[in-house]
Amino acid sequence: MEYRRLGHSGLQVSALSFGSWVTFGSQIGDDTAESCMRMAYERGVNFFDNAEAYSDGKSEEVMGRILKKLGWRRDTFLVSSKVFWGGKLPNQSGLSRKHVMEACHAALRRLQVDYLDLYFCHRPDPHTPIEETVRAMNTLIEQGKVLYWGTSEWSAREIQEAKGIASRLNLIGPTMEQPQYNLLHRDRVESEYDPLFKSADGLGTTIWSPLASGFLTGKYNKGIPEGSRLAQKNMQWLRDMVEKDPDGWDRKLSKIKALGGIADGLGVSLAQMSIAWCLTNPHVSTVILGASRPEQLEENLSSLDVLPKLDSEIKAAIEEAVSE
Ligand code: NDP
Repeated sequence: MEYRRLGHSGLQVSALSFGSWVTFGSQIGDDTAESCMRMAYERGVNFFDNAEAYSDGKSEEVMGRILKKLGWRRDTFLVSSKVFWGGKLPNQSGLSRKHVMEACHAALRRLQVDYLDLYFCHRPDPHTPIEETVRAMNTLIEQGKVLYWGTSEWSAREIQEAKGIASRLNLIGPTMEQPQYNLLHRDRVESEYDPLFKSADGLGTTIWSPLASGFLTGKYNKGIPEGSRLAQKNMQWLRDMVEKDPDGWDRKLSKIKALGGIADGLGVSLAQMSIAWCLTNPHVSTVILGASRPEQLEENLSSLDVLPKLDSEIKAAIEEAVSE
């Protein structure tokens, strides 16, 4: 496993990490979740990603039970949660001081840990002043309940504002952002955040959906296979989103097929090439993998071996395939 610094912090994160969205507490059983976590850890993964919103808290409960059962030393792994979508009542969501504190306490209980290594604001909250959230996160850090805080899908302007407030008030600002990044979704990481990466205090990234929810495996090339993420009953919103994508389903598939040809030429799977491609970006601190089966995780963890194959010629071919 390769380890990367989380932005300018001293924290070392495995280049490949493992997340529980859609799967833990919903699509897969606890035994499968445990097999995947065990395999990831044995292969050097040290970061496990979670959120209060995942399966309405059940994902954190499942991960907490597994962490307890496996009994890994606390200094050998990092675990995260995210605050934003907690419940339907007025103070059960968003980034107010009240919800940030309560959501953190609930996540600690469900995950059965004394502190969260990483704690993310899952989305920006237009109804809470950023200063209120920065102060709440700083309080949690001072109380030892959170080690590093960050954002997820905030604009560069919002992240910059949070950093500015923290610096002006002598508080701890965001260390990392969790954006979507994959061969079909690049702008924010490659353009919008560029000034943040270049700034003196830097920004780490824990990137999500490296396979665009599975599209970059080629599994949707001939429709929606049974048992896949897009076939899940509660994924209508994702199917709608794919349908409405300005890139269009057909255009997306033609890019994916062209990418598949390059992967075939390299003798690797499209999933492995797509994950390895994310790692070629030096601003990516860790790629969060998702898997509904241990075999998928096994395949995806081998992406690190594919990284040396992505030389400038192959990267140019990939660029041509996605810009068609
Ligand atoms: P991916 O884009 O990699 O999608 C993972 C899914 O693709 C798997 O669950 C599986 O679904 C399918 N898949 C994965 N590998 C293979 C393979 N080798 N062959 C065939 N199918 C495969 O990542 P996720 O969308 O799951 O995101 C990863 C993590 O990022 C999440 O768990 C979460 O921690 C985080 N995240 C954060 C978000 C945020 O807003 N901050 C949003 C979304 C995710 P199936 O078998 O069911 O088809």
